[in-house]
Amino acid sequence: MSGYSRAELIGKPHSIVRHPTMPSSAFKELWDTIKEKKAWSGLITNMKKDGRKYVVDSTVVPILDIDGDIVEYIAIRHDVTEFEQTKEQLSILNKAMKHKVDELYSMTQTLEEQASIDVLTGTFNRMKFEEFFNLEFQKAKMQRNKLSIILFDIDKFKSINDTYGHDVGDEILKDIAKIISKNVRSTDTLSRWGGEEFAILLPGTTFDSAKIVANNLKNTIADHKFKSIDGTITASFGVAVCNDEDNQEKLFKRVDKALYKAKNSGRNLVVGEDELL
Ligand code: GH3
Ligand code: MG
Ligand code: MG
Repeated sequence: MSGYSRAELIGKPHSIVRHPTMPSSAFKELWDTIKEKKAWSGLITNMKKDGRKYVVDSTVVPILDIDGDIVEYIAIRHDVTEFEQTKEQLSILNKAMKHKVDELYSMTQTLEEQASIDVLTGTFNRMKFEEFFNLEFQKAKMQRNKLSIILFDIDKFKSINDTYGHDVGDEILKDIAKIISKNVRSTDTLSRWGGEEFAILLPGTTFDSAKIVANNLKNTIADHKFKSIDGTITASFGVAVCNDEDNQEKLFKRVDKALYKAKNSGRNLVVGEDELL
């Protein structure tokens, strides 16, 4: 095992095969045990004559005379170097795999995020809105919580594009998304539902509160001074709340109708579902 000949070993201390990575403290437990006249077992890293490492699974047994004094020790060793190397390689592989799994996990998260975010405005997209709407609707039904919804559409946005160009139109959309995000609660989700139309889901919010929120948002937009254009921009809002007989389709239809009415009644308005015929 050690690469030394019998002649080279006989009469030499065991330290002849001691590997430099093994400090004396590594042998303390071994010595403490066998001096107490007990057998010790464990792994020891040794060094061959040519300097290579080898690992031995060792059992050291103290041999006692009739008075119970230690007269000698017998050590039985198995070379487990290959096994230990395989274990080490496995552990390296394991770590590498864990790293890969973490990487994949964060890639999946990034992809999921990308799939739910509207690229232009950074708000949630229509697909994510549908997901939130499903989830919040079920929750509202089960917990008998209020779920309100605000749908708004920028007024005469086509003329902004026509007057200032599509790029300015894009900037305005981004600005509006920012303004709205800043003025809703963190539990309210803003999604870009279509071109210049956005939906806000307000879990745990009554119809009256949602109307107040919508009016505040309407005024905030109307009062905002947009850098890239002269004059102001307005938006029209519809507001509805989930009721006991609702399904998602009915609820969305009502908020859409309310928005439509706000448009037809002159724009820059909030119309609640209670104002529908
Ligand atoms: P209304 O008050 O009735 O809503 O009038 P409007 O002009 O806003 O409505 P219309 O539906 O006629 O036009 C919507 C416009 O929004 C037309 C479209 O080019 C523009 N739009 C939609 N998406 C984008 C976008 O991503 N960027 C820009 N710049 N414009 C967009
Ligand atoms: Mg519009
Ligand atoms: Mg529109």
